[in-house]
Amino acid sequence: MSEKFQNFINGEWKYSDSGEFSENRNPANWKEDLIGLFPKSTVKDVKEAVQSAKKAFEKWRLVPAPKRGDVLKVVGDLMTERKNEIAFEMTREMGKVNAETKGDTQEGIDTAYYAASEGRRLFGMNAPSELNNKMNLSFRMPVGVAGIITPWNFPMAIPTWKIFPALVCGNTVVFKPAELTPKTANTLIHIIDTAMKEVLGKDYIPGVVNLVHGSGRVVGEAFLADKDINLISFTGSTEVGKRINEVGGRELKRVSLELGGKNAQIVMPDANMDLALDAVLWGAFGTTGQRCTATSRLILHKDIYDMFVTRLTEKTSKLRLGYGNNENVDVGPCVSEQQRETVEYYVNVGLNEDKAKLCCGGKRAEDGDLAKGWFFKPTIFIEVTPEMRIAKEEIFGPVLSVIKCRDLDDAIKILNNTEYGLSSSIFTNNVNDAFKAVRDIQAGITYINGATIGAEAHMPFGGVKATGNGHREGGWTVYDFYTEWKAVYIDYSGKLQRAQIDNY
Ligand code: NAD
Repeated sequence: MSEKFQNFINGEWKYSDSGEFSENRNPANWKEDLIGLFPKSTVKDVKEAVQSAKKAFEKWRLVPAPKRGDVLKVVGDLMTERKNEIAFEMTREMGKVNAETKGDTQEGIDTAYYAASEGRRLFGMNAPSELNNKMNLSFRMPVGVAGIITPWNFPMAIPTWKIFPALVCGNTVVFKPAELTPKTANTLIHIIDTAMKEVLGKDYIPGVVNLVHGSGRVVGEAFLADKDINLISFTGSTEVGKRINEVGGRELKRVSLELGGKNAQIVMPDANMDLALDAVLWGAFGTTGQRCTATSRLILHKDIYDMFVTRLTEKTSKLRLGYGNNENVDVGPCVSEQQRETVEYYVNVGLNEDKAKLCCGGKRAEDGDLAKGWFFKPTIFIEVTPEMRIAKEEIFGPVLSVIKCRDLDDAIKILNNTEYGLSSSIFTNNVNDAFKAVRDIQAGITYINGATIGAEAHMPFGGVKATGNGHREGGWTVYDFYTEWKAVYIDYSGKLQRAQIDNY
């Protein structure tokens, strides 16, 4: 019998009202490795979770912020103790290699310690008054109940980027993880609840964090419909993000969106070629290309194009595919059958519609044990032009499109020729070209001589154009999203001093 997992509502682990479950399977061995059964939750489950979060908010907002930070400190300690186990199980449920799932977990740990310390800052601002004997202050206040909706590609890091700052600011949380990665979500919520009990003791407040598993269509939509959810933080596809923004706009919910990407790496002729090659291999095929910051376009200067393509093809064909918890594996499977079908669809678009040239991969990988999973060979298209679909649309798999450019201006123009604007990179040893790229590239993140992937937890994270709606996660910037400003005027003159009256 496989283990049946539960939701977490109002401080209790409980089954969904539906009594139904969906399977969570290992994408590297989907027939033989059933990880567990997770609740298919209902609108009623969401309502119960939201009401418990609403009630808990009245107490949690009054817990001093440094103490809320102490909870996050213990969360960081518990995650550190369990890092290897979390990473092993995460690889099992979504496929990326163990070093990457350890990195995903470490990002959560770093975010926990950052949030813990923020409990002792959460700085407000003071400004002078325009009147005598009067003081002006402004404070950060929590917003209320935070609805958190996340994708499967960073099952630990992305939820922590949202939940930890939400909590330290005094908000309560209802969390809906991706259907493909429910187990990591259960572990995270279990850790947060353990830390709450340890720090708050007899003052423990049930309902500060709630977990509701299920589909976007039912559970996600119930978040949008619930008037008691005050803000929604969403990471996922641009299509779903637009829907959330529409409903959020109508209902005046605060909405933060982190959406798709079509990131590019530029290589100029003066660059260190070994470095640029290693970076593109890591950026394009790490996490099997299923990162929002993945390098899906490579823009090569014409003078190095042929040499670079030859060396890249050779290195790519040597990448070792397999189950990510085994030794010596470079690339894991696609996360699901559907994701592999999307990759196959785009390979067909590249070949038949765009008429680009395939120089590597382009097929399922089915030798030996690879036949048990959703593996796809790392794929490179060359002779790609900026207007082709494979140069413009997000594929979210191990597929790289290589485009030739004439010079730096042409490279930047090609890079910007996409509806998205998340990450970007340029390899050059010319300092003037590097700074010009920083100024002119339209993206939330630009790397000089580094791969497009690999954000640091204390830096702003997010994109421009169709990648988001202007908010940033990570570092200090995310705290603006989870707080409201309260302006306070203190008049100690003993008389009625009138502002907004012309005293001049
Ligand atoms: P997705 O949009 O299909 O799903 C994301 C989450 O939204 C899931 O939990 C899903 O159940 C939920 N959802 C689906 N329909 C919903 C609805 N109608 N209402 C509310 N919630 C709904 O995305 P995915 O396939 O899980 O993830 C891949 C996408 O995420 C890619 O486009 C990728 O670029 C993007 N992504 C972006 C970032 C970033 O920071 N910019 C990071 C990671 C992934």
